[in-house]
Amino acid sequence: MVKFAETTKRLFANVFVCRNCKTKIRGLPTKLMKGLIPCKKCGKRRFRPIRKK
Ligand SMILES: [Zn+2]
Repeated sequence: MVKFAETTKRLFANVFVCRNCKTKIRGLPTKLMKGLIPCKKCGKRRFRPIRKK
């Protein structure tokens, strides 16, 4: 289960969701949160970190 946890962490660590169109985007959290990377679909720059319940 440790390996699974690590995999999950890796998969979701750098994934963010667009607040406007909910598209998943991969990128460095620092860049995404600063608005350096626009959404590919709608061009907005507001993202929130993805979280799995
Ligand atoms: Zn978007």
